[in-house]
Amino acid sequence: MKKILLASKNSDKLKEIRLALQSLPVEIVSLADFDDMPDAVEDGKTFEDNALIKARFFGARTGLACLADDSGLEVDALNGMPGVYSARFSGYHADDGTNNQTLVNELKKIGVTESKADYRCALAFVDTDGTEIITDGKVDGTIKLIPKGSGGFGYDPYFYLSESRTMAEISPAEKNSISHRGAALEKMILKLKGRLP
Ligand code: IMP
Repeated sequence: MKKILLASKNSDKLKEIRLALQSLPVEIVSLADFDDMPDAVEDGKTFEDNALIKARFFGARTGLACLADDSGLEVDALNGMPGVYSARFSGYHADDGTNNQTLVNELKKIGVTESKADYRCALAFVDTDGTEIITDGKVDGTIKLIPKGSGGFGYDPYFYLSESRTMAEISPAEKNSISHRGAALEKMILKLKGRLP
């Protein structure tokens, strides 16, 4: 069975990706299965660049086929920020709580109580023979200042899919069926199926 390394240290992302890949006849390993794995330098300007940087880096370090995700939130009222800086919106020691606080503060600073936004995800797969596949996905929503729900992760409690329902109020399976990551995974799975025995 083909072994694929999921190149993410974000356990929430890993859960969503593992759930979506259940249908594929592959063995999944993650960075947690390797000791002392250094971080890749994510200095790309786009989600695609960063996903490819990670998939190439961790694929080369382990000798495994590697799938990497790079994703983030783009808020219209903040001119597309935090974008590729989503994980570090509040600085180098950021976590979901401080990032969400920064999001709320930045919107309050400019007097905005809600704004159109989207989540974007790029997935990069680098196979052991050097083949590279990139897919992407996007979901539109609205950022509001009042959080709701305890599911999902990151900015999900502030990301409204409708007037009153946030991304943090739906099940993992429903999130995968509508989310940026789910859309990118669906395209990736179709392409991977063509490469599996
Ligand atoms: P990355 O690990 O550099 O790709 O950073 C991704 C960051 O974007 C996460 O730490 C979250 O802040 C945000 N993000 C990406 N996908 C999601 C999602 O599905 N829900 C909420 N936040 C997300």
